[in-house]
Amino acid sequence: MHKQTILVTGGGGFIGSHLCELLLSRGNDVICLDNFFTGSKNNIRHLLSNPSFELIRHDVTIPIELEVDAIYNLACPASPIHYQHDAVQTIRTNVLGAMNMLDLARRLRIPILQSSTSEVYGDPKEHPQRETYWGNVNPIGVRSCYDEGKRCAETLFFDYHRQYGLPIKVVRIFNTYGPRMLPNDGRVVSNFIVQALKGSDITIYGDGSQTRSFCCVTDLVAGLEAMMQTPDSVTGPVNLGNPGEFTVRELAETIIRITGSNSKIVYKPLPQDDPARRKPDVTLARELLGWTPGISLEDGLRQTIDYFRNLEEL
Ligand code: NAD
Ligand code: UDP
Repeated sequence: MHKQTILVTGGGGFIGSHLCELLLSRGNDVICLDNFFTGSKNNIRHLLSNPSFELIRHDVTIPIELEVDAIYNLACPASPIHYQHDAVQTIRTNVLGAMNMLDLARRLRIPILQSSTSEVYGDPKEHPQRETYWGNVNPIGVRSCYDEGKRCAETLFFDYHRQYGLPIKVVRIFNTYGPRMLPNDGRVVSNFIVQALKGSDITIYGDGSQTRSFCCVTDLVAGLEAMMQTPDSVTGPVNLGNPGEFTVRELAETIIRITGSNSKIVYKPLPQDDPARRKPDVTLARELLGWTPGISLEDGLRQTIDYFRNLEEL
């Protein structure tokens, strides 16, 4: 196969930086495009000296012309505190950003992958969630800028596919964690680990009985790559996540045990529209991509805790 040039939008973020690394390790040229709203140069600093790696500081809501062979569209803040900070910009990124990348892919006639989310299922009434489920999303709540933005982006992808024959790949990513989450990211795994390592209170929102399924980022990026390699007939949507299901309280207790922390658990109000449970059915990913996540929560947490222990700014 000839050497490909691959564009990763949001490549300076948590998942994007791991994806850039994986694609470089396969011998590709990688262009990382990011406006560093929630990403960090530290995530990709070690790649900057690699001649196969290029960084472009740019906002996906503004059109850009590049010559590439494939696009992974990951640009979008993913943590509730960050995507709600400037809700209008979040929708703009999801919708205008997707259109700009779709227009680029259309001009170049190249495949484009969209990092959609389990949030398209909202507070799900079907459990576990299969790709055939249409979801239960509040269209006017505080999470809607993200949920509805991502749903609209999925619509755009399928309309570009139907109308222009564009090869699209839509994956719905479930909660993913691992090294390079920012200490102030605000998501549950990084919050609990940072709190446990500092010996401060562990903040459970609600009573902690809500569930999530946590996928280690190494597994996740392998799934993204496998999806991109499928034939044009495979469009998705395909769920990518680890089907192990844990309550938030179990997660807190596991992190306290592994870190050996003296932190106490404290209970805070549950945010609006916080989904009560979430667990992917990953049958389709197994059948279409031969992909299953292999890293247990315990092993993935240990790697992530080691990463945070070694962070200077903690
Ligand atoms: P992240 O916040 O670490 O990364 C997002 C990156 O996109 C950041 O580097 C940010 O600076 C960049 N970005 C944001 N707006 C941009 C814009 N307008 N133009 C250019 N760059 C912009 O989050 P992440 O966890 O790495 O998520 C990556 C993608 O995966 C997102 O699209 C997210 O919705 C999706 N996703 C993540 C999870 C998860 O659990 N991590 C779950 C579901 C979906
Ligand atoms: N959560 C929590 N304490 C925190 C951060 C999050 O109890 O410090 C809860 C949050 O209310 C949700 C779950 O953990 O029920 C996962 O939150 P996160 O923001 O990581 O992702 P979400 O799946 O809600 O997008």
